[in-house]
Amino acid sequence: MPHTEASPRAAGSSRAAEASNAGGRAFGAGRSLRPATKVLPEHARAHNRSLVMQTLFHQGAMSRADLSRETGLTRVTISDLVSELIADRLVVEQGTREASGPGKPAILVDLDRDGHRIIGLDLSGSDRFLGAVLTLDGDIVARHEVAVPGAHDLIVDTVTALARALVADAHAPVLGVGVGSPGVVDDHGIVLTAPNFGWTGVDLQGILTEALALPVLVANDANAAVLAEYTFGGAHDDVMLVRVGRGVGSGLLAGGQPMRGSRFAAGEIGHVTVGTDGGPACACGKIGCLEAWLAAPSLHARSEAPGADRDATLRDAGERLGIALAPIVGALDLSEIVLSGPPHLLDGPLAEATVETLRTRTLAEFHDGVHVRMTAQGEDIVLRGAAVMVLSGRLGVS
Ligand SMILES: [Zn+2]
Repeated sequence: MPHTEASPRAAGSSRAAEASNAGGRAFGAGRSLRPATKVLPEHARAHNRSLVMQTLFHQGAMSRADLSRETGLTRVTISDLVSELIADRLVVEQGTREASGPGKPAILVDLDRDGHRIIGLDLSGSDRFLGAVLTLDGDIVARHEVAVPGAHDLIVDTVTALARALVADAHAPVLGVGVGSPGVVDDHGIVLTAPNFGWTGVDLQGILTEALALPVLVANDANAAVLAEYTFGGAHDDVMLVRVGRGVGSGLLAGGQPMRGSRFAAGEIGHVTVGTDGGPACACGKIGCLEAWLAAPSLHARSEAPGADRDATLRDAGERLGIALAPIVGALDLSEIVLSGPPHLLDGPLAEATVETLRTRTLAEFHDGVHVRMTAQGEDIVLRGAAVMVLSGRLGVS
């Protein structure tokens, strides 16, 4: 159970039931990220089906009567939907709970958490592609990894072989395959551009779907990561996840909805120039890009160089991050910035300088409280986010 507290994300809360937004969009998936209210009759059944699964996902086993109360759906509708979900092997009955009053004990139902597995792939590493078999709760039960091939034309075959090995190791029906890829990825899982792989317009989702004969969803790695933080990390509805690795990117949720942008490049902050006072040269040819200040390999090298003031170097980088984030925090009224990357670089003087810079550069009354923290998902964040893509895309659960 990822969440047991009564939070606004618990589908069926009165607040959610009153909400009017029904048509959210998910990264890499063509359906709502977190359905929370009844909709038009022609869509109602699929929507309410997701509402039932969402409620079970976050609140765990409960009786049909509880489900009716939590979702606002009638007992008859719940009974009908649960029967359908049991027939589809997505929900199971789990014995009874002691009756608190007269009458027979209630039978509990829950998602069939052990009956399915999800495959997650993280292609964002500089030297290794990571893969995992995950439960519906995002727990990793098996891992595989392969070296990133030197030749670009071997990458697709390497990724396909990794996915096949994971499927063979799943030992349960696979609900789907989620992939977090570097680069700009459209909503059909086509990698529009990934310079590190030499890719332009590679239909990775299509290639893997055909090769594996399973549902596959591909999204940018930072966009996958922010979903992991949302579903498993307790992130708020207005959050930016900044990933620092070989490059710098981010994933954004506004009002609990993923932001994709007009060309699927929302969150691509790496080559935004920070300041007018120069800075390190960037691989893209500009001076002082955020990525030039922050990318892990060069930041590590600069901070550990002989004679370097390590803390000052990290503070400089954190200040530049704060300068870049301040207008975004202001424009979107974000409540939370989550950092994902090497803790020895990010967690300390760098994050502190980012917080201080945000404080001095945003409207105190509203943005003083913006919370900057490290992710607790560690290096599994993209794998777990890839699992949320599948949960969201296949079950409407997140
Ligand atoms: Zn650049």
